[in-house]
Amino acid sequence: MLQSLEIELTKTKKQQPPAEQLGFGNYYTDHMFIMNYEDGKGWNTPRIVPYQPIVLDPAAKVFHYGQTIFEGLKAYKTDDGRVLLFRPHKNIQRMNRSNERLSVPELIIDDAIEALKQLLAVDQNWIPTAPGTSLYIRPFIIATQPQLGVAPSTHYQFIIIMSPVGAYYTEGVNPVKIFVESEYVRSVKGGVGEAKTAGNYAAGLKAQEIAKEKGYSQVLWLDGVHRKYIEEVGSMNVFFKINGIVHTPALNGSILDGVTRNSIIQLLNHWNITVEERPITIEELYEANRKGELEEAFGTGTAAVISPIGELNWQGEVLVINEGRTGELSKKLYDTLTGIQMGKIADPFGWMVEATGIRV
Ligand SMILES: *Cc1c(COP(=O)(O)O)cnc(C)c1O
Repeated sequence: MLQSLEIELTKTKKQQPPAEQLGFGNYYTDHMFIMNYEDGKGWNTPRIVPYQPIVLDPAAKVFHYGQTIFEGLKAYKTDDGRVLLFRPHKNIQRMNRSNERLSVPELIIDDAIEALKQLLAVDQNWIPTAPGTSLYIRPFIIATQPQLGVAPSTHYQFIIIMSPVGAYYTEGVNPVKIFVESEYVRSVKGGVGEAKTAGNYAAGLKAQEIAKEKGYSQVLWLDGVHRKYIEEVGSMNVFFKINGIVHTPALNGSILDGVTRNSIIQLLNHWNITVEERPITIEELYEANRKGELEEAFGTGTAAVISPIGELNWQGEVLVINEGRTGELSKKLYDTLTGIQMGKIADPFGWMVEATGIRV
């Protein structure tokens, strides 16, 4: 594979923003990776070029039928200057599952990883090192065939952009307030909820806007059939600690299979803390709280890593978790996972993939 991926490089350099100004997804590195796809020809012409606008035909299928996939992962720079990617194969494998669902051609996994590593090598001086910061990587695929017919595109582009980021939530790792959505739904089994595809997020904006107006930072989605089972939050999977046992909704075909979710389950198993993956109802959560058994709640995702949940509002009934403070387990999970990611503590799972020294 490596030989097949002869990446052409055009270099540039621009000024970097100060670390305290980063926020999330506001700045982009010097370069981006692009590769084309054409039916009959496959993926071709891999190149690293200066970060720049892309020119597309207004009839490109991505604009009309939403045939597009994205991923999100992070890179970190260790104190001794190594560049580490967190479980990149998981993201590219998931991208291929999303591709399959949206009738987008599969990527060759090793080539996509090679593209990630080479782009990182070129822009490694963009990886911020202050606590809580990292380099967020956004690979995505768009359907570019200019043809107004509902059919899979014959042409695509695979693009990788990278953004130095600070903390995801302006509140930092403090607990967030979440609105439990009873009217709108995010997805149903058989739909595209399992795929990281744009439409899922556009469909969620309305509910998110309403929640924001009410003073809540995110929406907790319930299942689309019964409006009863807990699914996930915005772009995070959710966990609840009830009576010493950690519960998370089982992957049911409408929830995204988060890499962070999977890592948290592995960490908890490693610590001999029981994790139950099963359908969880919202009533059950309120009942556990009434009995004083709901100890902690948190969301998991690449962007925020761990986001403690301090309050839920379901049909006007407010539930305060752990007095609105960050729970001990949430804190320990955050510290451990970010410690592994930054190369500060041992990685017993072999999650980190080193990306330096490929090409500069
Ligand atoms: C990306 C995403 C997640 C989290 O997945 P990670 O791989 O942990 O980043 C959860 N839910 C949705 C809807 C997402 O888009």
